Amino acid sequence: MKQIVILGAGESGTGAALLAHAKGYQVFVSDSGTIDSVYKQQLEAQHIPFEEKQHTWQKIKDTHEIIKSPGIPNTTPIMQAIHKAGIPVIDEIAFATRYTKATLIAITGSNGKTTVTQYIYHVLQQAGLDIGIAGNMGTSFAKKLFQQEDHAYYVLELSSFQLEYIHHCRFHIACLLNITPDHLDRYDYRMDKYIAAKQNIGYNMTPQDWLIYNADDKHVAQGISSLSDPNHPKTCPISLKGPVHDGAYLKASCIYFHGTESYFKLSLETLPLHGKHNIFNAMVVGLVATYLKVPSASIIKGLQTFKGLPHRMELIADCNSIKFYNDSKATNVAATMAALQSFDQPIVWIAGGYDKGNDYTPLQAIVHKWVKALIVLGTDNTPIKQAFADCDIPMYETTSIEEAVAIAYNLALPQHIILLSPACASFDLFQNFEDRGQQFKDAVNALVCIFKRSSTFQK
Ligand code: ADP
Repeated sequence: MKQIVILGAGESGTGAALLAHAKGYQVFVSDSGTIDSVYKQQLEAQHIPFEEKQHTWQKIKDTHEIIKSPGIPNTTPIMQAIHKAGIPVIDEIAFATRYTKATLIAITGSNGKTTVTQYIYHVLQQAGLDIGIAGNMGTSFAKKLFQQEDHAYYVLELSSFQLEYIHHCRFHIACLLNITPDHLDRYDYRMDKYIAAKQNIGYNMTPQDWLIYNADDKHVAQGISSLSDPNHPKTCPISLKGPVHDGAYLKASCIYFHGTESYFKLSLETLPLHGKHNIFNAMVVGLVATYLKVPSASIIKGLQTFKGLPHRMELIADCNSIKFYNDSKATNVAATMAALQSFDQPIVWIAGGYDKGNDYTPLQAIVHKWVKALIVLGTDNTPIKQAFADCDIPMYETTSIEEAVAIAYNLALPQHIILLSPACASFDLFQNFEDRGQQFKDAVNALVCIFKRSSTFQK
């Protein structure tokens, strides 16, 4: 019987263990931390042996294959020992693809993965395709297959961590959205290593497959131009800057889609999500649907009816002509750049949090142009304050989100935007980005309620 060891027993590792067990492998699960009781129960229900708070080398060293959970860096002693022993390593996603016949659509990038993945799911489902969704969200892909949830199509959101050992699997359509510095602590602070992980998405693709990429992104475009294997996939550029061949582009106020057999255009005014980055996202989605031969009328309808996701440029209130946007998911500089670029209006900006070593320089020009005041919401605000010290804008510091909202509203004038787009992680003051976004929404709604009750109030 073939043996397989799974490192890590979170959603990904447990899903892999359940699937491997169902497919007849002799499975052992090893986690250096404490295993969540939910996952323990799932393993125990299938009589899958596991250990926690340790990795016992004796139980690992003779296995035929390792499935590594995405959270485990290669630098850990156990991974070093596995490499030294020459045991093959794969990702949960790569393992799971052995057991599906679905056409696979894979999405990666530093920002926009969840939006694009959900947007594709929406458009293809609306068009009547039998499509599933998995990856870096909710139930793992392997667990879905274990639960017999296979589909004709699967759209997969993939982080760079999930692409480190993806070499055995082939995606039929892959989308490389953008590459900007993030998670560099995992890659020895080397951009080239992070880029290489992202580019793994195209590793096994063939000339029958499509690699959709952001032609305006220098790191992405560089990687595409260096594709030397003559068997590389069809490359399909997307540009907001001007015409491209066999892809999608923005010109004046229309998006133009050039699929292999179809050509259509769509007016920007009819798109539901705010911001240039969401125009780009819609272009990716439209192109994917085009390659899957979805009729253009159906693609357009799907693109126009997507509702967007919470905590990503989410419009939550309009009070006295001041709009409040919740972009709590912007945990890096590039996502906040996209948010700030979405408005041609003065912005009162709420930012800050746990700083992962950000370089704020790219934001300085746009902050100088549009930001009227900066409210810094975090426990250590020194780096962000220093970065914008020369922008000549008022700055306020607080650790209370209610206070941040109240200050912002006092400063804003009609037609101004109040934007929470932190560029930082949330865990100095909040449980996660959802908690931060929800507390922001609650504070805004409470404030709006007060002003609605006082009908005489005018800004
Ligand atoms: P991810 O899953 O990659 O983190 P999300 O869709 O959750 O991406 O969005 C994360 C942040 O990035 C949000 O602030 C969102 O507004 C922003 N964003 C979405 N799409 C893009 C894009 N194409 N380019 C840059 N930022 C984007």
